[in-house]
Amino acid sequence: MRGIERVRGRVGEINDLLCAVNLLTWDARTQMPPGAAAARGKQLATLSKVARERLLSRELLGALQEARAEDVTPAEADELDQLTGALELLERLPDGLIEALAEHRSVAQAAWERARADADMSAFAPALERMLELQQRMAQAIGYDDHPYDALVGLYEPGMTAARLQELFGALRGGILPLLEGIRASGVVADRRFLQRHYPEGAQRDAALHFAKLIGYDLGRGRLDVSAHPFEISFTRDDVRITTRFRRDFLPMSLFGTLHEAGHALYEQGVDPAYVRTALTTDVPGLYAVAGTSYGTHESQSRLWENLVGRSRPFWRAHFGALRSFFPEQLADVDAEGFYRAVNHVEPSLIRVEADEVTYNLHIMLRVEIEMALLDGSLSVRELPAAWNDAVGATLGLDVPDDAQGCLQDIHWSTGLFGSFPTYTIGNVMSAQWLEAARAQDPAIAAALERGETEPLRAWLQENVYRHGRRFAPDALLERATGRGLTPEPYLAYLDGKYGELYRS
Ligand code: ZN
Repeated sequence: MRGIERVRGRVGEINDLLCAVNLLTWDARTQMPPGAAAARGKQLATLSKVARERLLSRELLGALQEARAEDVTPAEADELDQLTGALELLERLPDGLIEALAEHRSVAQAAWERARADADMSAFAPALERMLELQQRMAQAIGYDDHPYDALVGLYEPGMTAARLQELFGALRGGILPLLEGIRASGVVADRRFLQRHYPEGAQRDAALHFAKLIGYDLGRGRLDVSAHPFEISFTRDDVRITTRFRRDFLPMSLFGTLHEAGHALYEQGVDPAYVRTALTTDVPGLYAVAGTSYGTHESQSRLWENLVGRSRPFWRAHFGALRSFFPEQLADVDAEGFYRAVNHVEPSLIRVEADEVTYNLHIMLRVEIEMALLDGSLSVRELPAAWNDAVGATLGLDVPDDAQGCLQDIHWSTGLFGSFPTYTIGNVMSAQWLEAARAQDPAIAAALERGETEPLRAWLQENVYRHGRRFAPDALLERATGRGLTPEPYLAYLDGKYGELYRS
């Protein structure tokens, strides 16, 4: 057997284990009775450990060495390069660091939950300090040229650095802050009261499924369930599941939440079938079965479908009738334009997950800058709440009443996800870059979108993004499809065009 086939056999088994981890995770978040939590934790830890041992086994290393000397296809060469790079990275991590992180994660998360419930940062501070120390060790072990943040953000977004983010953020603030100022000054306020009428859960579920199918989500290889925090998860391209949550008195939560997760799912369902069970559908260093090439690229798809398509005027001109058929009484006195305006309301708020498109990235930027300062030691955990509150005041113009609505609102720091926040903003920026390129390259896509038809756009994304899985790094994927690396201009032009028109006084 050739080396490449032996590599494929081994990686296939690792991918099977990781898909089983995903399935147990899905179950834990949707179906599992609470009493099973401890046993499930052990099952997940065991499977992850076996996957890690298989990854670092002599058999795989030997097969990999052999395969690298063989004649392989360009896709196979990329597959081998990724595997080699991932193994080199894992080898740099000192013994015990992964275990120490896993162990501290549950401690820190419990402390964060208590602290948030009591709005008391001091209850989380010691656990956060310890987490920070572990993250700093991780950054040292991975290595970086310029800033410790480079090592961590690269785990989620290969090629991204603190310096590139600072430049991107400067450009974004330069566009967003004046836009927000204009919106505030306009005095325009959309009527949103109808969004809070009584929307029965069954009809919300039917509507969510209707719109997920409409944008191309294949229910023959997927399903929709309910969970407290919505997510998408896959066990190969042939089983890609999404979840949502329903609030009876607020329609947008399930509707746009489902479009968001369905956007993630289109990416996973669209990967080339030849890549299934290979390194090109496996996040090898992160030990996670996923086809999307980076967190930011994944998020670019969820946000493209949720916001750039799902909150667009032509989409609702075409499909508001269908939405109203699910809620004939609740939406009897609303039209497409009224709905469009209501779901694009802009208002600075304290909570990131409730933020609108214009202010959302301001929330992310302040978190990322705080993360960078915590990591390089220029900010201490003790100084964190004040730094947070100052940044919220300076960019959003709001006072933070307590830490639960401030620096304790997100789970990320307690689970050790330092470096992942930027991927939300990268996803937003990238989403507009894809859409701009698709429309420019094929006028039929732009014309179809004007009629509310999304299939030509999905086909373009399938060809240029989805089918490649993890084969290309984000910048390379962008270059191939749009002719340039990540750039903020299309996103700023999108925000300006849309919200400038909506909020013209
Ligand atoms: Zn998402």
